[in-house]
Amino acid sequence: MSLERTRIVLVGTTHPGNIGAAARAMRTMGLRQLHLVDPQCRADDPEAVARAAGADDVLGRARHHADLASALAGCRLAFGLSARSRAERQPRLALRPAAESAAAEGGEGDLAWVFGRERTGLTNAELDHCHYLVQIPTDSDYSSLNVAQSVQLAAWELRMAAGAGTLPQPEAEEPPAAVDTLERFFGHLEEMAGRVGYLDRHNPALTMRRLRNIFRRARLTEDEVRMLRGLFSHVLNPRRWREQDGWKG
Ligand code: SAH
Repeated sequence: MSLERTRIVLVGTTHPGNIGAAARAMRTMGLRQLHLVDPQCRADDPEAVARAAGADDVLGRARHHADLASALAGCRLAFGLSARSRAERQPRLALRPAAESAAAEGGEGDLAWVFGRERTGLTNAELDHCHYLVQIPTDSDYSSLNVAQSVQLAAWELRMAAGAGTLPQPEAEEPPAAVDTLERFFGHLEEMAGRVGYLDRHNPALTMRRLRNIFRRARLTEDEVRMLRGLFSHVLNPRRWREQDGWKG
């Protein structure tokens, strides 16, 4: 299944805001093919454009159809979304397994996800065009979602099923400092701890081992080692640095 080849089909939508919100819902999840069957409003209505909130490329490229059959032409599978379970119907799936079977069975062809009218949903004749009847599991005594919110959930599940449920990898992290850099750092640290009298009061070998552990755990980078060694230099030789920095303490 490819998200680019997944159509969202809205049948008989009445409110332009819902078309816009559906476009936005699609765009956030990487879906771009919006098909409108017999819409009862215009896709370029200002409210649709406002609710699309920048996803107006999806709105602008929306295809219009007189009936569902024409919107499904060329598709391998159609999933019809309905809040109601209906008797004597095609296989009924909850949204998540439906998205998973789209990913498993979809192959390379186009897939369609069909959403009904705000007030009356899809007709039985329209559902007859679909291979699966898909329900979004809801609370049992209130099952009807807003159509654009249904699109959002379906688009999210499709994205997850397509394996796009991870964040892009951040830039490669700076590698930890080399062993010899760290050894020089520990030498510098020991020199400083000794000079300020810190090591005299404890078991110096044990103290150094514990300090080494702390700094190893910190996975210092070369840059961080340089910064800390700058600090040690100031502690070891304050007068020189005061003069160099023009310090007037
Ligand atoms: N009273 C209508 C509800 C329409 S809501 C009905 O009974 O069908 C508009 C569209 O949103 C529905 O046609 C359907 O495609 C989708 N939808 C809303 N809630 C849904 C749910 N729980 N499961 C699947 N689709 C849902």
